[in-house]
Amino acid sequence: MAVHLPGTVEEAVDHLAAVPSSTVLAGGTDLMVEVNDGHRRPSEVVVVNRIPELRSWRYDPRTATVTIGSAVTYSEMLDGPLATLVPALSQAARTVGSPQIRNAGTLGGNLGTSSPAGDGLPVLSALGAEVELASAAGRRRLPVGEFMVGVKRTVLAPGELIVSVTVPVVDGWQGYAKVGVRNAMVIAVASACVVLDRSQRQVAVALGSVGPTILRCAAAEAQLAATLDWSTLGASDADLGRFAELVSAASRPITDHRSSAEYRRHAVGVLARRLVRRASGTEVAA
Ligand SMILES: Cc1cc2nc3c(=O)[nH]c(=O)nc-3n(C[C@H](O)[C@H](O)[C@H](O)COP(=O)(O)OP(=O)(O)OC[C@H]3O[C@@H](n4cnc5c(N)ncnc54)[C@H](O)[C@@H]3O)c2cc1C
Repeated sequence: MAVHLPGTVEEAVDHLAAVPSSTVLAGGTDLMVEVNDGHRRPSEVVVVNRIPELRSWRYDPRTATVTIGSAVTYSEMLDGPLATLVPALSQAARTVGSPQIRNAGTLGGNLGTSSPAGDGLPVLSALGAEVELASAAGRRRLPVGEFMVGVKRTVLAPGELIVSVTVPVVDGWQGYAKVGVRNAMVIAVASACVVLDRSQRQVAVALGSVGPTILRCAAAEAQLAATLDWSTLGASDADLGRFAELVSAASRPITDHRSSAEYRRHAVGVLARRLVRRASGTEVAA
Protein backbone atom coordinates (compact mmCIF):
# COMPACT_ATOMS: atom_id res chain seq x y z
CA MET A 1 0.00 0.00 0.00
CA ALA A 2 1.52 3.33 -1.08
CA VAL A 3 1.45 6.12 1.50
CA HIS A 4 1.17 9.79 0.54
CA LEU A 5 1.87 12.46 3.18
CA PRO A 6 0.54 15.87 2.06
CA GLY A 7 1.46 18.99 4.04
CA THR A 8 -1.61 21.07 3.16
CA VAL A 9 -5.30 20.58 2.36
CA GLU A 10 -4.67 21.75 -1.22
CA GLU A 11 -1.89 19.20 -1.69
CA ALA A 12 -4.15 16.46 -0.29
CA VAL A 13 -7.14 17.23 -2.53
CA ASP A 14 -4.92 17.63 -5.62
CA HIS A 15 -3.52 14.17 -4.90
CA LEU A 16 -7.00 12.68 -4.31
CA ALA A 17 -8.05 14.12 -7.69
CA ALA A 18 -4.92 12.82 -9.45
CA VAL A 19 -5.18 9.32 -7.92
CA PRO A 20 -8.93 8.59 -7.61
CA SER A 21 -8.28 5.10 -6.18
CA SER A 22 -6.51 6.57 -3.10
CA THR A 23 -8.22 6.58 0.32
CA VAL A 24 -8.01 9.16 3.11
CA LEU A 25 -6.44 7.89 6.34
CA ALA A 26 -6.53 9.89 9.60
CA GLY A 27 -6.00 7.89 12.82
CA GLY A 28 -6.71 4.59 11.07
CA THR A 29 -8.80 3.23 13.97
CA ASP A 30 -11.71 2.45 11.63
CA LEU A 31 -9.96 2.10 8.28
CA MET A 32 -7.16 -0.23 9.40
CA VAL A 33 -9.70 -2.53 11.09
CA GLU A 34 -11.45 -2.85 7.73
CA VAL A 35 -8.14 -3.41 5.94
CA ASN A 36 -7.08 -6.04 8.49
CA ASP A 37 -10.47 -7.76 8.14
CA GLY A 38 -10.07 -7.78 4.35
CA HIS A 39 -13.14 -5.58 3.75
CA ARG A 40 -11.12 -2.79 2.11
CA ARG A 41 -7.95 -2.95 0.05
CA PRO A 42 -6.76 0.60 -0.68
CA SER A 43 -3.85 0.69 -3.12
CA GLU A 44 -2.79 4.05 -1.72
CA VAL A 45 -3.62 6.07 1.42
CA VAL A 46 -3.45 9.84 1.77
CA VAL A 47 -2.50 10.45 5.41
CA VAL A 48 -4.13 13.67 6.61
CA ASN A 49 -3.31 13.77 10.30
CA ARG A 50 -0.14 15.83 9.86
CA ILE A 51 -1.81 18.72 8.02
CA PRO A 52 -1.68 21.74 10.37
CA GLU A 53 -5.09 23.13 9.27
CA LEU A 54 -6.74 19.80 10.11
CA ARG A 55 -4.76 19.29 13.34
CA SER A 56 -5.86 22.56 14.99
CA TRP A 57 -8.99 24.27 16.31
CA ARG A 58 -9.90 27.93 16.79
CA TYR A 59 -12.46 30.02 18.67
CA ASP A 60 -13.97 33.01 16.88
CA PRO A 61 -15.37 35.41 19.51
CA ARG A 62 -17.03 37.54 16.79
CA THR A 63 -19.35 34.70 15.74
CA ALA A 64 -19.13 32.80 19.06
CA THR A 65 -18.20 29.63 17.20
CA VAL A 66 -15.51 26.99 17.47
CA THR A 67 -14.02 25.44 14.33
CA ILE A 68 -12.39 22.06 14.93
CA GLY A 69 -10.04 20.57 12.34
CA SER A 70 -11.03 17.10 11.21
CA ALA A 71 -7.77 15.52 12.44
CA VAL A 72 -8.12 16.77 16.04
CA THR A 73 -8.08 13.65 18.21
CA TYR A 74 -10.40 12.67 21.06
CA SER A 75 -7.52 13.05 23.53
CA GLU A 76 -7.21 16.68 22.47
CA MET A 77 -10.90 17.31 23.24
CA LEU A 78 -10.84 15.89 26.76
CA ASP A 79 -9.56 18.89 28.73
CA GLY A 80 -8.50 22.50 28.41
CA PRO A 81 -10.18 25.38 26.60
CA LEU A 82 -11.80 23.24 23.88
CA ALA A 83 -13.51 21.11 26.55
CA THR A 84 -14.72 24.29 28.29
CA LEU A 85 -16.15 25.73 25.07
CA VAL A 86 -17.81 22.48 23.88
CA PRO A 87 -18.27 20.34 27.02
CA ALA A 88 -20.56 17.76 25.41
CA LEU A 89 -17.85 16.93 22.87
CA SER A 90 -15.37 16.42 25.68
CA GLN A 91 -17.86 14.14 27.47
CA ALA A 92 -18.37 12.14 24.27
CA ALA A 93 -14.60 11.93 23.65
CA ARG A 94 -14.13 10.58 27.18
CA THR A 95 -16.38 7.58 26.35
CA VAL A 96 -14.49 6.61 23.15
CA GLY A 97 -12.51 3.36 23.19
CA SER A 98 -9.29 3.31 25.19
CA PRO A 99 -6.46 5.87 25.60
CA GLN A 100 -4.76 4.41 22.50
CA ILE A 101 -7.93 4.85 20.40
CA ARG A 102 -8.50 8.37 21.80
CA ASN A 103 -4.88 9.31 20.93
CA ALA A 104 -5.27 8.23 17.31
CA GLY A 105 -9.02 8.51 16.51
CA THR A 106 -10.29 11.79 15.09
CA LEU A 107 -13.60 13.62 14.77
CA GLY A 108 -13.14 13.65 10.98
CA GLY A 109 -12.75 9.87 11.01
CA ASN A 110 -15.94 9.54 13.08
CA LEU A 111 -17.73 11.61 10.40
CA GLY A 112 -16.00 9.74 7.57
CA THR A 113 -17.31 6.43 8.90
CA SER A 114 -20.67 7.88 10.04
CA SER A 115 -21.67 4.87 12.09
CA PRO A 116 -24.97 5.56 13.92
CA ALA A 117 -22.99 4.60 17.06
CA GLY A 118 -20.23 7.20 16.52
CA ASP A 119 -19.91 9.05 19.83
CA GLY A 120 -18.98 12.44 18.38
CA LEU A 121 -21.94 12.53 16.01
CA PRO A 122 -24.95 13.14 18.32
CA VAL A 123 -23.02 16.10 19.78
CA LEU A 124 -22.38 17.57 16.33
CA SER A 125 -26.03 17.01 15.42
CA ALA A 126 -27.47 18.59 18.59
CA LEU A 127 -25.16 21.59 18.22
CA GLY A 128 -26.22 22.05 14.59
CA ALA A 129 -22.61 21.75 13.38
CA GLU A 130 -21.57 22.81 9.92
CA VAL A 131 -19.12 20.57 8.07
CA GLU A 132 -16.54 22.07 5.70
CA LEU A 133 -15.43 19.89 2.79
CA ALA A 134 -12.65 20.52 0.29
CA SER A 135 -11.91 19.08 -3.13
CA ALA A 136 -9.74 20.11 -6.08
CA ALA A 137 -12.82 22.08 -7.27
CA GLY A 138 -13.00 24.21 -4.11
CA ARG A 139 -14.67 24.20 -0.69
CA ARG A 140 -18.29 23.83 0.47
CA ARG A 141 -20.10 23.88 3.81
CA LEU A 142 -23.22 21.97 4.79
CA PRO A 143 -25.17 21.12 7.96
CA VAL A 144 -24.04 17.88 9.59
CA GLY A 145 -27.64 16.58 9.29
CA GLU A 146 -27.29 16.76 5.51
CA PHE A 147 -23.81 15.21 5.56
CA MET A 148 -24.88 11.92 7.23
CA VAL A 149 -27.54 10.17 5.17
CA GLY A 150 -27.71 6.56 6.39
CA VAL A 151 -25.86 3.69 8.04
CA LYS A 152 -22.20 4.54 7.33
CA ARG A 153 -23.37 6.67 4.38
CA THR A 154 -22.47 10.30 3.74
CA VAL A 155 -22.66 12.78 0.88
CA LEU A 156 -18.84 12.95 0.73
CA ALA A 157 -18.01 12.92 -3.00
CA PRO A 158 -15.01 11.08 -4.48
CA GLY A 159 -11.91 13.23 -4.00
CA GLU A 160 -13.45 15.24 -1.14
CA LEU A 161 -11.79 15.80 2.21
CA ILE A 162 -13.49 16.71 5.51
CA VAL A 163 -11.68 19.87 6.62
CA SER A 164 -13.47 20.90 9.82
CA VAL A 165 -16.68 21.24 11.78
CA THR A 166 -17.95 24.52 13.18
CA VAL A 167 -20.20 24.57 16.26
CA PRO A 168 -21.69 27.45 18.25
CA VAL A 169 -20.57 28.21 21.78
CA VAL A 170 -23.86 27.73 23.60
CA ASP A 171 -25.06 29.97 26.42
CA GLY A 172 -26.71 27.34 28.60
CA TRP A 173 -26.01 23.68 29.14
CA GLN A 174 -24.97 20.66 27.06
CA GLY A 175 -24.27 17.04 27.90
CA TYR A 176 -23.69 13.61 26.34
CA ALA A 177 -24.35 10.14 27.74
CA LYS A 178 -24.33 6.61 26.38
CA VAL A 179 -25.10 3.11 27.53
CA GLY A 180 -23.20 0.05 26.40
CA VAL A 181 -22.80 -3.55 27.42
CA ARG A 182 -19.99 -2.56 29.84
CA ASN A 183 -18.36 0.63 31.10
CA ALA A 184 -15.25 0.93 28.91
CA MET A 185 -14.15 0.09 25.33
CA VAL A 186 -17.73 -0.15 24.24
CA ILE A 187 -19.78 0.77 21.20
CA ALA A 188 -22.94 2.64 22.25
CA VAL A 189 -26.12 0.58 22.52
CA ALA A 190 -27.93 3.92 22.80
CA SER A 191 -26.67 7.47 23.21
CA ALA A 192 -28.05 10.98 23.58
CA CYS A 193 -26.87 14.56 23.52
CA VAL A 194 -28.99 17.35 25.00
CA VAL A 195 -28.29 21.05 24.40
CA LEU A 196 -30.25 23.72 26.31
CA ASP A 197 -29.64 27.11 24.69
CA ARG A 198 -30.72 29.68 27.25
CA SER A 199 -30.42 32.80 25.10
CA GLN A 200 -32.40 31.29 22.18
CA ARG A 201 -34.68 29.30 24.55
CA GLN A 202 -34.10 26.30 22.29
CA VAL A 203 -33.71 22.62 23.15
CA ALA A 204 -31.83 20.17 20.91
CA VAL A 205 -31.83 16.41 21.42
CA ALA A 206 -29.85 14.04 19.18
CA LEU A 207 -29.82 10.25 19.49
CA GLY A 208 -27.21 7.68 18.47
CA SER A 209 -27.49 3.91 17.86
CA VAL A 210 -31.28 4.01 17.58
CA GLY A 211 -31.70 4.56 13.85
CA PRO A 212 -29.86 4.32 10.54
CA THR A 213 -28.18 7.64 11.34
CA ILE A 214 -28.23 10.23 14.13
CA LEU A 215 -31.82 11.28 14.88
CA ARG A 216 -33.14 14.62 16.15
CA CYS A 217 -36.33 14.70 18.24
CA ALA A 218 -38.43 17.67 17.06
CA ALA A 219 -41.52 16.96 19.20
CA ALA A 220 -39.51 16.38 22.40
CA GLU A 221 -37.41 19.48 21.74
CA ALA A 222 -40.53 21.67 21.34
CA GLN A 223 -42.23 20.17 24.41
CA LEU A 224 -39.23 20.76 26.68
CA ALA A 225 -38.56 24.26 25.32
CA ALA A 226 -42.14 25.19 26.23
CA THR A 227 -42.12 23.63 29.72
CA LEU A 228 -38.55 24.19 30.97
CA ASP A 229 -37.89 26.84 33.62
CA TRP A 230 -35.18 28.67 31.68
CA SER A 231 -33.71 30.37 34.73
CA THR A 232 -33.02 27.13 36.64
CA LEU A 233 -33.12 24.70 33.66
CA GLY A 234 -35.46 22.59 35.80
CA ALA A 235 -38.67 20.86 34.76
CA SER A 236 -41.42 19.05 36.66
CA ASP A 237 -41.35 15.25 36.89
CA ALA A 238 -44.52 15.10 34.79
CA ASP A 239 -43.01 17.27 32.03
CA LEU A 240 -39.78 15.27 32.12
CA GLY A 241 -41.78 12.03 31.92
CA ARG A 242 -43.59 13.29 28.81
CA PHE A 243 -40.25 14.50 27.39
CA ALA A 244 -38.72 11.01 27.85
CA GLU A 245 -41.75 9.45 26.12
CA LEU A 246 -41.38 11.79 23.14
CA VAL A 247 -37.64 11.07 22.90
CA SER A 248 -38.31 7.31 22.92
CA ALA A 249 -41.03 7.78 20.28
CA ALA A 250 -38.54 9.56 17.99
CA SER A 251 -36.16 6.57 18.00
CA ARG A 252 -36.19 3.94 15.23
CA PRO A 253 -34.09 1.18 16.79
CA ILE A 254 -33.40 -2.35 15.60
CA THR A 255 -32.70 -5.52 17.55
CA ASP A 256 -29.18 -6.87 17.02
CA HIS A 257 -26.50 -8.82 18.90
CA ARG A 258 -25.90 -5.87 21.28
CA SER A 259 -29.45 -5.09 22.36
CA SER A 260 -33.16 -5.32 21.66
CA ALA A 261 -35.07 -2.52 19.98
CA GLU A 262 -37.31 -2.24 23.07
CA TYR A 263 -34.34 -1.68 25.39
CA ARG A 264 -32.81 0.91 23.07
CA ARG A 265 -36.14 2.79 22.77
CA HIS A 266 -36.49 2.88 26.55
CA ALA A 267 -32.81 3.74 27.14
CA VAL A 268 -32.73 6.89 25.00
CA GLY A 269 -35.71 8.30 26.92
CA VAL A 270 -33.96 7.59 30.23
CA LEU A 271 -30.66 9.06 29.00
CA ALA A 272 -32.25 12.27 27.70
CA ARG A 273 -34.29 12.80 30.91
CA ARG A 274 -31.18 12.13 33.01
CA LEU A 275 -29.20 14.71 31.03
CA VAL A 276 -31.88 17.38 31.60
CA ARG A 277 -31.83 16.58 35.32
CA ARG A 278 -28.05 17.02 35.27
CA ALA A 279 -28.53 20.47 33.73
CA SER A 280 -30.54 21.64 36.74
CA GLY A 281 -28.23 19.87 39.21
CA THR A 282 -30.91 17.44 40.39
CA GLU A 283 -28.87 14.46 39.13
CA VAL A 284 -25.10 14.16 39.10
CA ALA A 285 -23.03 12.47 36.40
CA ALA A 286 -21.96 8.91 37.24
C1 LIG B 1 -10.92 -0.79 19.69
C2 LIG B 1 -11.78 0.33 19.10
C3 LIG B 1 -12.67 1.00 19.92
C4 LIG B 1 -13.47 2.02 19.39
N1 LIG B 1 -14.35 2.66 20.22
C5 LIG B 1 -15.13 3.65 19.72
C6 LIG B 1 -16.04 4.32 20.57
O1 LIG B 1 -16.17 4.05 21.78
N2 LIG B 1 -16.80 5.31 20.02
C7 LIG B 1 -16.69 5.66 18.69
O2 LIG B 1 -17.39 6.57 18.24
N3 LIG B 1 -15.83 5.02 17.87
C8 LIG B 1 -15.05 4.03 18.35
N4 LIG B 1 -14.19 3.38 17.52
C9 LIG B 1 -14.16 3.74 16.10
C10 LIG B 1 -13.11 4.83 15.71
O3 LIG B 1 -12.12 4.96 16.70
C11 LIG B 1 -13.78 6.21 15.53
O4 LIG B 1 -14.82 6.15 14.58
C12 LIG B 1 -12.76 7.28 15.09
O5 LIG B 1 -13.36 8.54 15.19
C13 LIG B 1 -12.23 7.08 13.67
O6 LIG B 1 -11.29 8.11 13.43
P1 LIG B 1 -9.92 7.81 12.66
O7 LIG B 1 -9.19 9.10 12.59
O8 LIG B 1 -9.20 6.68 13.25
O9 LIG B 1 -10.53 7.42 11.23
P2 LIG B 1 -9.85 6.53 10.07
O10 LIG B 1 -9.91 5.09 10.44
O11 LIG B 1 -8.55 7.09 9.66
O12 LIG B 1 -10.92 6.81 8.90
C14 LIG B 1 -12.25 6.39 9.03
C15 LIG B 1 -13.00 6.68 7.72
O13 LIG B 1 -13.13 8.08 7.53
C16 LIG B 1 -12.42 8.50 6.36
N5 LIG B 1 -11.76 9.75 6.73
C17 LIG B 1 -10.99 9.99 7.83
N6 LIG B 1 -10.63 11.28 7.89
C18 LIG B 1 -11.18 11.88 6.81
C19 LIG B 1 -11.15 13.22 6.30
N7 LIG B 1 -10.52 14.22 6.93
N8 LIG B 1 -11.82 13.47 5.16
C20 LIG B 1 -12.48 12.47 4.50
N9 LIG B 1 -12.57 11.21 4.94
C21 LIG B 1 -11.91 10.91 6.07
C22 LIG B 1 -11.48 7.36 6.00
O14 LIG B 1 -11.23 7.30 4.61
C23 LIG B 1 -12.26 6.17 6.49
O15 LIG B 1 -13.24 5.81 5.54
C24 LIG B 1 -13.35 2.37 18.02
C25 LIG B 1 -12.43 1.71 17.19
C26 LIG B 1 -11.64 0.70 17.73
C27 LIG B 1 -10.65 -0.01 16.83
